[in-house]
Amino acid sequence: MLFYSTSRQSPLVDFREATVRGQAPDGGLYFPERIPEFDAAALKRLKKLKAADLGVEVLKPYVGDTIGEEALYEICAHTLNFPIPLLEVNDTISVLELFHGATLAFKDVGARFMSRCLGEFAKGSDQKITVLVATSGDTGSAVANGFLGVEGVEVIILYPSGKVSAVQELQLTTNGQNIKALEVMGTFDDCQRLVKQAFSDEEIRKELFLTSANSINVARWLPQQVYYFMAWQQWEESEPPVISVPSGNFGNIAAGLLAMKSGLPVKHFVAACNSNDVFTRYLQTGKFEAHKAQATISNAMDVGLPSNFVRILEMFGGDYDAIRKAISSYSLSDVETKEVMKRVYEQVGYLLDPHGAVGYGALEQYLRDAGGKGLFLETAHPVKFNGVVKETTGVEPELPEEMEALLKRTKQSVAMEPDYESFKTYLKKG
Ligand SMILES: *Cc1c(COP(=O)(O)O)cnc(C)c1O
Repeated sequence: MLFYSTSRQSPLVDFREATVRGQAPDGGLYFPERIPEFDAAALKRLKKLKAADLGVEVLKPYVGDTIGEEALYEICAHTLNFPIPLLEVNDTISVLELFHGATLAFKDVGARFMSRCLGEFAKGSDQKITVLVATSGDTGSAVANGFLGVEGVEVIILYPSGKVSAVQELQLTTNGQNIKALEVMGTFDDCQRLVKQAFSDEEIRKELFLTSANSINVARWLPQQVYYFMAWQQWEESEPPVISVPSGNFGNIAAGLLAMKSGLPVKHFVAACNSNDVFTRYLQTGKFEAHKAQATISNAMDVGLPSNFVRILEMFGGDYDAIRKAISSYSLSDVETKEVMKRVYEQVGYLLDPHGAVGYGALEQYLRDAGGKGLFLETAHPVKFNGVVKETTGVEPELPEEMEALLKRTKQSVAMEPDYESFKTYLKKG
């Protein structure tokens, strides 16, 4: 299987090349040249598979011969090493809990898969791969954890000092080994700017083999399809589910749509957004217009220009009406999000994080209009956002046992002013 760039000005590449490059040289996103199809007989077989085997079946067509089947199985087993249960919240709404992984967010799936793929690709080369990541919290911790101990790959994480939660900071800075944390005395935008500058610095690129681990990378995007299949394995209704996805950069929902295009039974998708509602407005008006990201309590979804929108266009051949038939979208304010968190806790005792609450609220609105039953993706554990969860519901979410050890570790970071010369000096020292 080859991948083309959505901007169509770059050569076709295989999975290996697409993973190592991240973004196509013309600035587009890589997209598979054809979408694999699972017919009824294939689906019947997939229905019974264990997570790792399911992962192999879903991902093999994309990976092609760039990774052997045994190695792919090992990678899938490593990636999907935590439970992803589908639970009933009430009569019409179920939740797919994606937060039982190492850093308590759904990004663990993509980050773990990508890290092992890069590790596999680094084996054949004598040059070390350096992964640069700017993070506002969740991405960096999932990437750090996923890449820990992967040979031939070094990870440098840039995070804004004082702007990530205490748990997140420990997740970023206490890994050691091949993971380095840079504490930038500035904002997330500063971190992103430094990373971008390094990527366009010829001198640095001659010395270091740089790649990024952001969410547009195919090796982070494609494995997310697998848990949509896992949700379907656990879905017991005769009619397929409506699926609501808390969305920011739209990588997660775009993976679900791709799975549906492959034959996965889904009735309808709901793109659940906070007040960053570029996509919601696109469905209303047909116009896709960027706006400046607004800060909300579901901050991993504070995106002003969802980068995976082009992939959604690609899947539907740019047909606006077809997109509207497959996807609905709702935008919730912080006030509405908190109302959902409080009400769901009081009514059924289920504790939502703010991102999952947006997913629940949007699904509820859709089902009210259209009827039927559905599920939403809970993308983070409430403990990651314990401040707002406690303030809204009065309940202090409990830290899972395996996380307790984290609190005892010591932060190790290199402090850095947000200027490029300091960053460059750091990179050159290796
Ligand atoms: C990253 C993230 C999202 C948004 O996912 P996208 O794939 O960017 O749409 C939602 N919730 C949480 C908790 C996240 O970390």
